[in-house]
Amino acid sequence: MKKEEVFNSYKENIMPTYTKIPLVFVKGKGSRLWDIHNNAYLDFFPGWGVGNLGHCHPKVMSAARDQISKLIFIPNNYYHIPQAKLAKELVYWSFPSKAFFCNSGAEANEAAIKFARKFGKGRYEIITFENSFHGRTLGALSATGQKKYQDGFGPLLEGFKTVKFNDIRAVNDAITDKSVAIMLELIQGEGGINVADKDFVLALRKICDEKNLLLIVDEVQTGIGRTGKLFCYQNYGITPDIMTLAKALGAGLPIGCMLVKKDIADTLTAGMHASTFGGGPVVSKAALAVLRAVKKEKLLANAQKMGEYLFLLLKALEDRYDVIKEVRGMGLMAGVELNTEGSPIVEKCLVKGLLINCTHERVLRLMPALNVTKKEIDKAVTILESILGEASQRGHSPERRVKNE
Ligand SMILES: *Cc1c(COP(=O)(O)O)cnc(C)c1O
Repeated sequence: MKKEEVFNSYKENIMPTYTKIPLVFVKGKGSRLWDIHNNAYLDFFPGWGVGNLGHCHPKVMSAARDQISKLIFIPNNYYHIPQAKLAKELVYWSFPSKAFFCNSGAEANEAAIKFARKFGKGRYEIITFENSFHGRTLGALSATGQKKYQDGFGPLLEGFKTVKFNDIRAVNDAITDKSVAIMLELIQGEGGINVADKDFVLALRKICDEKNLLLIVDEVQTGIGRTGKLFCYQNYGITPDIMTLAKALGAGLPIGCMLVKKDIADTLTAGMHASTFGGGPVVSKAALAVLRAVKKEKLLANAQKMGEYLFLLLKALEDRYDVIKEVRGMGLMAGVELNTEGSPIVEKCLVKGLLINCTHERVLRLMPALNVTKKEIDKAVTILESILGEASQRGHSPERRVKNE
């Protein structure tokens, strides 16, 4: 197929639910992607948070290939080895818990919502946060604290109270005798890379303990090493009651997972919840290879080191260019908030061969693979700087310097 034929087929035959960028990709390796004309791109937003190992990691490819040649699928009323091994590994590296496997982030959050309701025995209210994102299915959408995703889809599911992020008083005010859980992303990804304060998270944990509420941490985007720890909650010195995972877990193969604290996990018993494809052999084997690669290739240490380096360079840009309002994030999850619309910047980066994202209108989002190199970061930041330089009305800003000191 030629490029135009691809575009035409999409136009004729595929629902227009995505804002499309006119590129057709055919090949990927590590942090590089090639389009249909064999142009190379540096991918600093691989797979919307899926590509923590970069594209086509050899260990993941061979694990999936190996499993496909043996047994592609076995339903969840039987046993198979890859799921047994994956669950054991996930529980070992997180907290004493039990897993439920599904196929996506939204589904993992649906499972968490259903779990909370069953656990609540009549208590059903879940407190969520402004600018959160938990997925597009109706339950997850109702939990999402952004009107733009909900408009036109009402009535939404009852029982969610959305309060201000990082505001412990707002949380306390929202709690009633019907409350059963507090659900949050520790770093709001789609909401603009908003990092939860440590004090806030510690206070949430305390409230949950005191009031017998479940602390549900949505790590669909922050999980699997993104923030320099395998799971983001490990940066906060707390343990959640429920954690949801998806995106990077299968390195591109669709797998989602809910982990529930062991002593309450048996709240859901046979027949109460299910997913036909959930945790099938191929995706489980791939996810296992992901976890092993993260450990074996010391990707957490690399994510920490490269994250520090990336932030150093981005902070230097912040000092130099007025167009940048703030740089924030953790590990290799970086947000650059601008004083202007971000999408023209993203488009200009693309023309120069750098793929990044813009979220929440003004926040550039950079989430390179955990095995990104210093050289690749240098190249990406050089491209970004050349474009931000053009976008900035003034180059150097002495007033700002003084303000910072
Ligand atoms: C992407 C995302 C989801 C939804 O995941 P899907 O696999 O698209 O359903 C949920 N929560 C967070 C934090 C996400 O980033």
